[in-house]
Amino acid sequence: DSGGFQIFAMPNDRSMSEEGAKFLSYVDGKHILLTPERSIETQIAIGSDIMMVLDQCVPSTVDESIARAAMELSNRWALRSLAARGDSPQSMFAIVQGACYENLRRESAAFLSQHPFDGFALGGLAVGESKQEREDTVEYAAAMLPTDRPRYLMGVGTPIDLLEAVHRGMDMFDCIIPTAHAEQGVAYTWKGKILLRRGAYRDQEAAIDANCKCKVCTTYSRAYLHQLIKTQEPLGRTLVGIHNIHFYHELMRTMREHILADTFLAFYEATRPWLAASDEEFPVKKPNLRPKAATELGDYEVHRSSAGFHNIRQKSSGEIMHSVIPPEEEAFALYVNQSRFLERIAKEEEVVIWDVGMGAAANVMA
Ligand SMILES: [Zn+2]
Repeated sequence: DSGGFQIFAMPNDRSMSEEGAKFLSYVDGKHILLTPERSIETQIAIGSDIMMVLDQCVPSTVDESIARAAMELSNRWALRSLAARGDSPQSMFAIVQGACYENLRRESAAFLSQHPFDGFALGGLAVGESKQEREDTVEYAAAMLPTDRPRYLMGVGTPIDLLEAVHRGMDMFDCIIPTAHAEQGVAYTWKGKILLRRGAYRDQEAAIDANCKCKVCTTYSRAYLHQLIKTQEPLGRTLVGIHNIHFYHELMRTMREHILADTFLAFYEATRPWLAASDEEFPVKKPNLRPKAATELGDYEVHRSSAGFHNIRQKSSGEIMHSVIPPEEEAFALYVNQSRFLERIAKEEEVVIWDVGMGAAANVMA
């Protein structure tokens, strides 16, 4: 990559100008000026197969004027990057910017297509827009790009995102998801994702995917990977990451085969619901929500005291009856014990109860 995303991701640690982006080095505090020329010089030095032009990426949800300024600056930087390439045999891709504004994307694509780039990337997506906005933008922006050069969607995505983007005309991707999600124990398969952290996988001897030919699936059980992930053993994310990268390659290879065989649309429709699925074999049980018992009547509600017992509170006054001693205890202490009530009814003695209207008799009876 060129450093464009770092310009975006470190907004407080850099200043922007026509010339380039100025960073403060976190190593020695020195100023570093990242220009298109410097970026290409570095990419030539490391020998990348595909060099990316330096661009200014902005959040995909910014105002049109900000998106336009960033897009126009990116176009000027793209030409400077192209000039800096010299006679290097390494490929160079341009980056179409313009946030979610169709007119800006069109302008950017039309401008960059006139120049001899080896491929075209859509930049500035997966940085704040909704999934629907991204898919819409990819759909119209992909159609603006030359058909004889690769199209690369930067920073995307999950397997279902890749399927949707290929369906809309994209060819290439880069993303941290296969390894980043592996850290949380998320494994991607043809039947959707598997959350290996879940207890459902604790005792399973089966592989992540019985049909997968990767080294992890032919060697380790779900139970073992579950244990590694739960105990945060670094080996867990390495192994799940190896499977995920294998699956991503498999997915891309299969999509390519279907495109070449002209069967992609049928494949897309059949595969889409599966890739969007999660824990198909062992679905997460929805909590059994029982309707709550009524806890209010008129001006009164059931209240839970700090000591943990329930009592009654009058809503209008806030007064709590039996605020300190639970109602049952109070009834025993005041009425049952004092009147030796239990003793007397055990002897089948005749008892007369006078209730003066404060609930005492009701308490005793209870
Ligand atoms: Zn595998």
